[in-house]
Amino acid sequence: MSHLIQSEANLWLQEAVCIKTAIGLAEIMKCNFPAFNGNRLNLEKHVLKSLAEKEDFDDFITYIRNPRRQTEAFIKAEVKKYIFTDHKDETMSILKKKVGDLNTLLSQALFTATQKVKTQRGDANMWLKEFSSVLKDDLTFDTISSRNFSDINNFDFFMDAIKKGFTPVIDKMNSLSLDKLKESRLKLDEVLINQLCRCCWVTCPFCAAVCTNTIEDHSPDDHSVPFHRPSGINGWHYRGTEEFSINFCTTNVASDCRFYPKHDSEETVPFKQYRTAGPKYAGWRITPDESKLAYWKWFVCQFQTKLEEHYKLKFQDKGEIPSAWKTISKDEAIKSLDELC
Ligand SMILES: [Zn+2]
Ligand SMILES: [Zn+2]
Repeated sequence: MSHLIQSEANLWLQEAVCIKTAIGLAEIMKCNFPAFNGNRLNLEKHVLKSLAEKEDFDDFITYIRNPRRQTEAFIKAEVKKYIFTDHKDETMSILKKKVGDLNTLLSQALFTATQKVKTQRGDANMWLKEFSSVLKDDLTFDTISSRNFSDINNFDFFMDAIKKGFTPVIDKMNSLSLDKLKESRLKLDEVLINQLCRCCWVTCPFCAAVCTNTIEDHSPDDHSVPFHRPSGINGWHYRGTEEFSINFCTTNVASDCRFYPKHDSEETVPFKQYRTAGPKYAGWRITPDESKLAYWKWFVCQFQTKLEEHYKLKFQDKGEIPSAWKTISKDEAIKSLDELC
């Protein structure tokens, strides 16, 4: 009996502590951690900054193809660094505090349930019911509360077993390590991903820039983004040539040029009427303007060869990179991200 309670209780309590710690840390990171404490664009800015710092082309491609996946990878990496390296002591003290809170709660629940059963001359099942109801906001007793203890006649013996069972549980909790956070059902990175990534992820049909709306499904409102990119980074090129399209979407939609909506389209559509080109174009509001983030100019120059290899295209002729772009430094590129928010 005692053994049974002990091993089950160990699991719930450990789990409860880890869940509470994860939730507590998520709140703290959302207040203090620069990448997580702002709006959607702020997170985007930090993802882009980290991509530029690492200069890993494959990560850039993941970001362009599947921005959500790269953002989730960013959150996971930052959380890991925060709790296991940069703020290890803070994390440990939160874990300890949650253990302390739960120990207090547990003693209260043990006491309250026992008192009630004694005054009402109840049995083991009543005790468990009481005990669970005191803790129900903090723990879920899926295993033990469903067990039937009607065969326990000697209540004092039962209580003795419970108390004996909990002592090592509490001792074990006091020595809980950070590694347990990794095994928990609810992980800190997942809590943050759920909170931070619940937004629109639809990408621009030309340049793959991510819509910055904070609502997942915001129809009938248009998708939009403050800064578009050269559409070549998404593989756009001039049909029948190897020439990348280097124009920003915001320039294209103001031009008299035309485009093929799909790679196998037979008819072109004027950029000025891009919305008529099909459903994925219709939902986007792309305003003609001259806003061009230095970041993407730097990116094209920095990864020119890699982009050429990746798409089997060339930055030449109509797709030639303007020479002014080549003077942008990485620092300037990163600094330009401040224009996002
Ligand atoms: Zn675009
Ligand atoms: Zn959107």
